[in-house]
Amino acid sequence: MPILTDRLNRPLRDLRISVTDRCNFRCGYCMPSDQFGADHVFLANDQLLSFEEIHRLSSLTAQLGVTKIRLTGGEPLLRRGIEDLVGLLASISGNLDLAMTTNGVLLPHHAEGLALAGLKRVTVSLDALDREIFGRMNGTGADVSRVLAGISAGQVFGLPVKVNAVVRRGWNDGEILPLVRWARETGVTLRFIEYMDVGETNRWQLSEVVSASEILDRVNAEFPLTTLPPTTTGETALRFQHADGSGEIGIIASVTKPFCGDCSRLRLSAEGKLFTCLFAATGHDLRALLRGGADDATVAAAFGAIWSDRGDRYSELRGQLVPPGQKAEMSYLGG
Ligand code: SAM
Repeated sequence: MPILTDRLNRPLRDLRISVTDRCNFRCGYCMPSDQFGADHVFLANDQLLSFEEIHRLSSLTAQLGVTKIRLTGGEPLLRRGIEDLVGLLASISGNLDLAMTTNGVLLPHHAEGLALAGLKRVTVSLDALDREIFGRMNGTGADVSRVLAGISAGQVFGLPVKVNAVVRRGWNDGEILPLVRWARETGVTLRFIEYMDVGETNRWQLSEVVSASEILDRVNAEFPLTTLPPTTTGETALRFQHADGSGEIGIIASVTKPFCGDCSRLRLSAEGKLFTCLFAATGHDLRALLRGGADDATVAAAFGAIWSDRGDRYSELRGQLVPPGQKAEMSYLGG
């Protein structure tokens, strides 16, 4: 099958799959507890794509040019039997870059099985090392030691670990330097993420965004950095190396330095809706197609039509757009 390109000539390379809309954290910037309380209605089991359905869609996208698949959510380790899904996806091709983003809390129970099933690497979200700040950031009071144990478990079982930290002014910006110090000591690659206006529930304000250049200035003041070139087209992080050679850090600057021009990502929600942008309001229902008995050629044609019609570049147009409706939540469409 031909490689797909969209209206802005961007190829389809990455597929992010949300395997559940549930999470065991309530980070205020993503799933604030006052919006996702005990009465929140999550997707029912029969609404979720089955592993076989996810495998089928993933195989088709691999034929259409996808080389990287990331499992996410919600919290992907809450999906029962996740190792079985990893095994199925790993069987698509040995060359597939198969990764997962997780909050790490359940990683001590899963790291070995995931590594054995063929997961190639893991990104763990860790917004603070200070216990109180971490407890406030995750909205549940969960102790940071649990995430650190998850990171260690990943490393023990040979999964390369990257750590992502969202920086929110007034909440955890004092943790930037402690995180950098810790990453240098542990050899983990750290990436800071600018706080994004994704979804509608987090009451995002620009004043809470700590820009990439401010993060860089703060780190540079204590640890001089040099700029690194991107490793691949479409890479989301600006990369920097410690001048003393002790590892690198990255900054994902979706707000102040948007990277829509290279965006090769397609997102599949846990119920099978395909989103062409993290900031989109609606997705395309592939589950209906699958459950309606469509053959592979028909599903591949749907992928082709959706991708070739894609013109999204929300982050570049931020502020100038007429809102297309309620933006979907990140916990639903997959971070
Ligand atoms: N539960 C998993 C986790 O915690 O990594 C995976 C899903 S989570 C939605 C994926 C990533 O999105 C996390 O690194 C999280 O910090 C990030 N994220 C969520 N909301 C965000 C926001 N408003 N701005 C920037 N990053 C955000």
